[in-house]
Amino acid sequence: MDAPLSKSPLAVTSADRLRRPLRDLRISVTDRCNFRCIYCMPKEVFGPGYPFMRRAELLSFEEIHRLAAILAGQGVRKIRLTGGEPLLRERVELLVEQLAMLDGIDLTLTTNGSLLAKKAQALHAAGLKRLTVSLDAIDDATFRAMNAVDFFVKDVLNGIEAASHAGFGPIKINMVVKRGMNDHAILPMARHFRGSGHVLRFIEYMDVGASNGWRMDEVVPASEIIAMINEEFALEPIAENYAGEVAKRWRYQDGSGEIGVIASVTQAFCAECSRLRLSTDGKLFTCLFATQGHDLRQLLRDGASDDVIATRIAGIWQAREDRYSEIRTAATPSAPGSKKIEMSYIGG
Ligand code: SAM
Ligand code: SF4
Ligand code: SF4
Repeated sequence: MDAPLSKSPLAVTSADRLRRPLRDLRISVTDRCNFRCIYCMPKEVFGPGYPFMRRAELLSFEEIHRLAAILAGQGVRKIRLTGGEPLLRERVELLVEQLAMLDGIDLTLTTNGSLLAKKAQALHAAGLKRLTVSLDAIDDATFRAMNAVDFFVKDVLNGIEAASHAGFGPIKINMVVKRGMNDHAILPMARHFRGSGHVLRFIEYMDVGASNGWRMDEVVPASEIIAMINEEFALEPIAENYAGEVAKRWRYQDGSGEIGVIASVTQAFCAECSRLRLSTDGKLFTCLFATQGHDLRQLLRDGASDDVIATRIAGIWQAREDRYSEIRTAATPSAPGSKKIEMSYIGG
């Protein structure tokens, strides 16, 4: 007798209410971080008494792996490990090893680079092939003001170097631009990474969470960033690597590499958003700006079967109609008391 067809509900219907397929999964493996970036975990809010999660609340590696495998069966093709700072999660390379073995999954990880010099080799050996490192300036004074814990640029650069030696490449370098804080670092960053083989990507400052006090006038539009760089180094646009890629790609006309801009505020890309986020404690969020997650940890710990979990996920995805960035206005509230989830918890 033939094997039964897949029972995964998303194998039958995989689009949400706005006809977007499920393709990407971001997994936050810890809500903790050793940085206090002003736009993400401002230290006035994430101070010494901040109630981070207890160990028992975190999904175990086995639980994460099980959910990832179920989601892979439902259309997910790309998994990004994030946080908080993912390299702070004890023995995260063991999780990488498990996820790297999932069929047809492109696995990647975003890090602040602080522990990369120590961990790059083990991560690569565990099967991680792609890496994104966040870096908001190439001069120490600005970088230290952005990370707010006096972390030195050279230690992140050493991490990037170690990652290159370990076999990662091209590495993506993410720079969040906040007007008045690090916009003067745009050109020095472009000059530094031009010709390095790494891909520098500029990210518009977003109103995630409820603690960064976001204001629209602090966003430097991607078009302004491109115009600024283009004045010094001629640029030309290039095609996206795949449908729905969030970064718009540009290359230096002299052949010295490419850059990207992620214009989440000024050129929203909700219409193609295929991302689902799994928080550190096992809640699924259908949008970075969601106010509520869907608890899968309880299902897992109550002994639910894969089919039951898959059905629950299918229902969540099929009901999805988020498009926050398309309907955001300059007056979008970001004040303390608003209920948006912090990025460090939901995973950037
Ligand atoms: N700690 C890791 C890191 O910084 O790379 C991973 C988690 S972090 C939340 C993921 C990404 O989100 C980083 O590149 C960070 O710069 C970006 N990010 C955080 N807050 C942001 C904001 N308000 N606007 C735009 N990007 C932000
Ligand atoms: Fe930490 Fe990353 Fe947020 Fe910075 S952006 S505070 S490094 S989680
Ligand atoms: Fe996707 Fe929500 Fe961001 Fe729009 S606002 S791109 S739906 S995560």
